[in-house]
Amino acid sequence: MAKSNIGIAPQPRARVQAMKEYHPPLGQRDLLRLDFNENTLACSPMVGEVLAGISTGALTRYPEREPVEAQVAAHLVLAPRQVALTNGVDEAIHVLFEAFLEAGDELLLPVPTYTMYEVYASSTDARVVTVQAGEDLGFPFEQLLEAITPQTKIVAIANPNSPSGSIATRAQILRIAGLAPHAVILVDEAYFHFHGETVIDLVGTVPNLIVARTFSKAYGLAGLRIGLLAGPIEMMQWVRRVLSPYSVNSVALACLGPALEDTEYLDWYTKEVLAARTGFEEVLDALNLRRWPSRANFILVEIGPRHREFVEKMRAAGVLVRDRSADPGCDGRVRITIGTQEQMRHAVTALRNAVAALYLGERAQ
Ligand code: PMP
Repeated sequence: MAKSNIGIAPQPRARVQAMKEYHPPLGQRDLLRLDFNENTLACSPMVGEVLAGISTGALTRYPEREPVEAQVAAHLVLAPRQVALTNGVDEAIHVLFEAFLEAGDELLLPVPTYTMYEVYASSTDARVVTVQAGEDLGFPFEQLLEAITPQTKIVAIANPNSPSGSIATRAQILRIAGLAPHAVILVDEAYFHFHGETVIDLVGTVPNLIVARTFSKAYGLAGLRIGLLAGPIEMMQWVRRVLSPYSVNSVALACLGPALEDTEYLDWYTKEVLAARTGFEEVLDALNLRRWPSRANFILVEIGPRHREFVEKMRAAGVLVRDRSADPGCDGRVRITIGTQEQMRHAVTALRNAVAALYLGERAQ
C-alpha cells in the first residue's frame, strides 16, 4: 500500500477535489460599491476613535473573546454562553456545518440563497438538498416542509434572503423548527437591521434554533470580519469545540463595544438606506424594470439577456453591481446594493444611461 503511493502527491478528500475555488470579484473598490451589500459609507466614528487609539503593544497579545462575547450577549438580551463570536458569519456557517454535518446528513436549502452555504457544505460529507423558489422568488415554505426528512440535519434560511431580498415569517420559522426537531434551524439574519424583524428572542426557547448576525452590513465593519452565532447553550458547546479561540482578532474585538453603543449612527445609516431604497424602487418602476420586493439593503432587478453588458456599462460609469445570473432561477438578473440617497442619485444616472444604451426600457415596455 505504502509502496504504491510513492511519487503520488497527497490527495484531498473527494468532495474537496470536486469543489471550485471561490473568487470574489477584486479591484476597483474605489468605485461606488453596490455589489457586495456592504455599508457603502463608513462605520461609526466612535469605532474610528478606538482604532486610532490601539497601540502596537496591544497587538502583541492574543485576543480575549469571552469578555466581549458577554458584552454582545447582554446587548442581545442573551446569556454569555448562548453567543459565540466568529470571523464573520462565513466562519459561523463553516463551524456550524463542521460541528453538525456528517456523511448521510442532509443540508436543506431554499434556493437561490447565499452561495457560501453550499461552499461550506462541500467541506463536509453531507448532501445538499435544494428547494427552488418560484417565479416570485418568495420563501418556498410548503416545498421546504415537504423536503424535510429524517436525514435533514441543518436547514439554512437567510432572512432576509440574498439575492432576492425575500423573507420567511416568524410563524414559518417556528413551524419548520417544530417539524424538524432533529435538525438545526439556522436563521441567518445578516440583513436584520434593514428588515427590523428577528427571531433572536426565541434563542434558548426553541431548542433547535440558531441565529447568525454580522457586523459586515449595517455596522460597516466587513473588513474587520466579525459575526456571531446565538443558540441554546447545549448546542453552542459543540460549536465552541470546533471554533478557533483566536479567530476574532483583537482589533475587531476592541471595535465591537463602540459599534454596539453607537445606536444613533446605526439608526441613521439604516434609515438612510431605507429611504434610498424607496426612491430607487420608484426609479426602477418608472423605467419598467422588473424588481423583486426586498427587505434588505439590495434589490434584484431583471435586466434580461444583456446582463453582462449592463454590468460593464454600470462599471464604466463608476458603479459596481452584481450579476446573479448564475444563481438558480436568476438568469438575467442583477443585484444592486442600496447605498445612501446621494450615492443612489449617482447610481440612477448610470442606470438610466445603461438602460438607454442597451434599449432595456424598450424591451420591458
Ligand atoms: N449571510 C448572508 C446572507 C450574506 O449575504 C453574507 C455576506 N454577503 C454573509 C452571511 C457573510 O457575512 P460576513 O461578512 O459576516 O461573513
